[in-house]
Amino acid sequence: MDLAYRDITYCKSVGAKRADILRSELGVRTALDMVRQYPYKYIDRSRFYRIAELDDEDTYVQIIGEVTEWHTVGIGKAQRLIATFNDGTHQCELVWFRGVQYVKLAKGVQYLLFGKPSRFQHLYNFVHPELTPMSKVTPEMTQGLEPYYNTTDRMKRINLNSKAIRGIIAELLPDLKAGVPDTIGADILQRYRLMSLTDALLNVHFPHDTLSMQNARARLKFEELFYIQLQILRQMKRREQNPGFLMPTVGSRFHALYRALPFDLTNAQKRVIREIHDDLKSGHQMNRLLQGDVGSGKTLVALLCCLLAVDNGYQTCIMAPTEILANQHYETLKAFLAPLGDAVHVALLTGSTTPKNRVPIHNGLMNGTIHILIGTHALLEDKVQWNNLGFVVIDEQHRFGVAQRAKLWTKNRLSPHILVMTATPIPRTLAMTVYGDLQVSVIDELPPGRKPIQTIHYNLQRRAQVYAFLRKQIQAGRQIYVVYPLIKENEKMDLQDLENGFNELCEAFPEYKISMVHGQMRAADKDLQMQRFASGETQILVATTVIEVGVNVPNATVMMIQNAERFGLSQLHQLRGRVGRGGEQSYCLLLTDNEISTDTRKRMDIMVATNDGFRIAEADLQLRGPGDMQGTQQSGTPFDLHIANLATDGKLLNLARQAALDILEADPLLEDERNRIYKRQLDILRQEKPMWGDIS
Ligand code: ADP
Ligand code: MG
Repeated sequence: MDLAYRDITYCKSVGAKRADILRSELGVRTALDMVRQYPYKYIDRSRFYRIAELDDEDTYVQIIGEVTEWHTVGIGKAQRLIATFNDGTHQCELVWFRGVQYVKLAKGVQYLLFGKPSRFQHLYNFVHPELTPMSKVTPEMTQGLEPYYNTTDRMKRINLNSKAIRGIIAELLPDLKAGVPDTIGADILQRYRLMSLTDALLNVHFPHDTLSMQNARARLKFEELFYIQLQILRQMKRREQNPGFLMPTVGSRFHALYRALPFDLTNAQKRVIREIHDDLKSGHQMNRLLQGDVGSGKTLVALLCCLLAVDNGYQTCIMAPTEILANQHYETLKAFLAPLGDAVHVALLTGSTTPKNRVPIHNGLMNGTIHILIGTHALLEDKVQWNNLGFVVIDEQHRFGVAQRAKLWTKNRLSPHILVMTATPIPRTLAMTVYGDLQVSVIDELPPGRKPIQTIHYNLQRRAQVYAFLRKQIQAGRQIYVVYPLIKENEKMDLQDLENGFNELCEAFPEYKISMVHGQMRAADKDLQMQRFASGETQILVATTVIEVGVNVPNATVMMIQNAERFGLSQLHQLRGRVGRGGEQSYCLLLTDNEISTDTRKRMDIMVATNDGFRIAEADLQLRGPGDMQGTQQSGTPFDLHIANLATDGKLLNLARQAALDILEADPLLEDERNRIYKRQLDILRQEKPMWGDIS
């Protein structure tokens, strides 16, 4: 019988109790769901180790040898059994904490030891190993790859461990061998040389050898990625059909600003403006992501595009994640637009705009006299009503929830064009998945004449040297950022670190003025301190990550980051981007503890080695995995991956996306009879995971 229609309760070795737990813990309802639980690792039971070969990284291993000595220590519940195991040349230790009385050991007997070694000083030990006399070892036990399945605490409590899962799946083997309907058409399987679903399921659970296991997994990964791409791209194709405001003209304001610029645009800036302009004259609504490293000139691109819209008679807005940034955009834009006189009317609306000052803004938006509104979340308030909003720029998308984005869209009947700007470079694989439904433009070139920032990693012991360096920079007329981690802005300890650091700097630099900003200050105080630093009145700014994005003080040449080990790579890169904005050589100093982990060491090395945000993002993905990536936390990854891994399966993702595109190009709505298989599977997936239906 079709596995999809067999209730898991009635499968062998299951029963009501286990079925309940399988359902609630893993979402397994049918026999098909069960065989769709893939092993997370395999242990090669055909391989035997020597104790001398072990290293710290080893997972499970098996070794043949004898137990030469054993004794117990402690009494009652605290009793432990400790044994010495010898493989003929070296020794290791075996330890049991529980069930000591059931462990039967004998001398002069060859055992097969199976377990996970860990090292204490120079001796490896195995806690609760499996120890089987060689006379009882069957050939099956040491044959091929043994799959391991994820289990939860609740599952373990009723003995539903990895072995039990394996047992249940083994019982389904005959039905599986009879074949399951495939979810991918024969033409694609052939084109991409993929296993059938039946073969893949057989080999993922009971692999013949490493190659067939890998091929099975590749097929299942492809399938997973393919359906995500099919879903995203179908959404995109649908949205491409949305009508959008027509903005064909390149008008007088755009030209006036372009002529007034004191520099040439970089080729990348020109290309991106062209891409956006193509969207604006297409008649369809634009949804575009603009990626560009800090300092690549995104703000100017955004402004020029706003002017394209304004010249066509539309209003525009730029939404920033913080008040400081909104203010700064406002000042920057006003400065750029000064040569244009009255031709462009810009307004600023943030949480601290007084009710009295709001009235003219609300009026200006309603009667269309305000062309560009800059602001924070305040832009999303109901009172903000537009005459004809046509173009929206969202800066640093990851600071905004998707829900807010949607709210903004639905205010007009016809959605405005949307440009999302981010300085957090996102690795391609992640962009294709998280932002797969957006068009992507990339500014991959910095304005000419910038000196690359030098990054140096110091440990705390060298503080005196660091301070001497800071003093020299200040004496040369430069300014300095000192950043402390304040991961959660309400953590008292962190705040204290910041204040201690501030005091320490005041003592070390009595001749200079120092500002301090952090998230718990009132907005007005924060702005005042930022202002003092920006105007050059203070030489050092001590801050938390509130300065992470967008702050622009070209005279600042040093970014010193305390406890750099507590920041993610992308965050470090963002912070570093605050310097190197003027003509002077700039520096980023990463301070860490004297003792750091291998992981921290790797991250510091990457920061020192490269200024390329994409390389850093890629390294971040490799080190931390996709779940923790900045830029995905707030916006959320709508898809859980069960087998594919965005850090390592980039090639498969490209193929899967291409396969999905090929299908949709010919049949955007999947109406063709031959594409029924895909439509049907998408429906099934949507039923299982409702969020598949409403990715914005
Ligand atoms: P981003 O927002 O991408 O971090 P900004 O737009 O803040 O970058 O630009 C950084 C600085 O470079 C600003 O002072 C801006 O005026 C300047 N700038 C932008 N484009 C160019 C260019 N093509 N040539 C020279 N300077 C530029
Ligand atoms: Mg910017």
